[in-house]
Order: sequence, then structure tokens, then C-alpha cells
Amino acid sequence: MPELPEVEVSRMGITPHVLNQVVTKVNIHNASMRWPVPDEVYQLEGLVVSSIERRAKYLLLECELGSAILHLGMSGNLRVVNANEPLKKHDHVEFILANNKALRLNDPRRFGCCLWQAPNEEHKLLVKLGPEPLTDDFFAKRVYEQSRNKKVPVKQFIMNNAVVVGVGNIYANESLFKAGIDPRKEAGKVSLKRYQALIPIIKDTLAAAITQGGTTLKDFAQSDGKPGYFAQQLLVYGRKGQPCVNCDTALTEIRLGQRSTVFCEVCQK
Ligand SMILES: [Zn+2]
Repeated sequence: MPELPEVEVSRMGITPHVLNQVVTKVNIHNASMRWPVPDEVYQLEGLVVSSIERRAKYLLLECELGSAILHLGMSGNLRVVNANEPLKKHDHVEFILANNKALRLNDPRRFGCCLWQAPNEEHKLLVKLGPEPLTDDFFAKRVYEQSRNKKVPVKQFIMNNAVVVGVGNIYANESLFKAGIDPRKEAGKVSLKRYQALIPIIKDTLAAAITQGGTTLKDFAQSDGKPGYFAQQLLVYGRKGQPCVNCDTALTEIRLGQRSTVFCEVCQK
């Protein structure tokens, strides 16, 4: 599943081709994505894409009449291609641009979406989102205070979009390992000092992934079609049974909230 770094990499990848371009045509080839693609998206036709923003894992193509909200779901990707290039199977929505390029949203499993938001409105999917992890709004004291009396495991707590957005499963696993925190520990029992260690690690882990082009995952392609290449640097995720890089103990895998959780029982307390 594309996580926040992959979405940010997609945003950076499409920006030079799409920003300040006039959308000459919108083609909705298949409106039945996670939610039906609304006709309002056609309002982009004839208008300039004035900015391309990211909020959590949503990308917003903004024009003067509103914003198309794109989400890649479980298996989606965005490609910028020459507009005359034949469509691929699962290219559901495309934006033809004045520079003869096309931005195409491809999503085999159709858990992604293309929605619409009017100016000065916030779509209901975006309203309840917590702070962005790479901003100053995400800081240890805030997380610590939110976590008091919470019995949920700390891993699930930091993956909760109301606490912070975009800390997906891979990055939660990796960050907790680097911070030496047992993913099963109750969020409410993690001290301020340990959150003060964890939060910068989460930021660094996400920032490093963005810098390096996103994690290689099945079905994900960067906007130029090349896969990312961060997977070989993962310390615990996908390494069940392999030796811990710190102490050589075989890494343990459990399920927390139905998600694969890999950790070192010696190093993480
Ligand atoms: Zn270890």
C-alpha cells in the first residue's frame, strides 16, 4: 500500500509536469472507485492547476473552482505520460494537460478515490485528520498528553490518523525499533521522555523515505514509472526470524490490529 512517503514522492514527481498547466480535458473512464467519482471533477477543465498539495495520503489538485482529491488506495499509482499514449488497464481517471501530457490515476483494486472539494471547504475525509508528521504540530508533549489513559498498544496509537497522519505500518515498525519501544506497550504507559525519543525518529524515518524515493512495494510505481528503492534499508519490517541488527536475536512477528508487527524482544522494552 502506498504510504505517506510514496504519496509525497508522487506529489513531487508529478508537480513539474502538472503545476500551472491548464487542464484541457478530464476523462473519467471508470467512476466506480471506492466512492463514485463525482461530476464536479469536470470543473477542472479549462482551468489552471494552481497548486498540488498533500494532506495525509490525499493529493489535492487545486484550481480556482475547487480541488480534485486523489487517493491511491491499496494499489494505485499516478503516472504522467504523453497524452497520446494508449491507456493501461485500470487507468480510471485522467487529466489531459495543455502541455500534451496526461496525468493518469491507475488503481487495479479500486480502493483509491477521486473526489471533489469546493474552495474554502474541507472534505469530510480531511476534517478529522491529526497533524502532519513532518510539521511542528506533531511534537512529543502533544502525543504524550493525548496518550494518557490509553490502553491501546503504542504501535496502533501512533498509526491512528487522529493522533498523527501517515505513520503507516512499515514506518511504525521501523520507528519503534529505532526508539527501542516494545510495540505492544500501552500508549498510556509510555513516558514523555520516550515519546521525546520516538517523535524525532518518526520524522527522520519518514523524511529519509521521501528523500530516497519511497519504499518499494508491490504495485507501486513512482510518477515516472520507476519503483522506489528503500526496502533494502528496512531494519525490522519484513525481517521476521532474521537477526536483529543490534543484538542478533531472531526478530519476532505478531499481529497488532491485524497488521504485521516485527520487533526485537531484547532491544524493545
Ligand atoms: Zn535486538
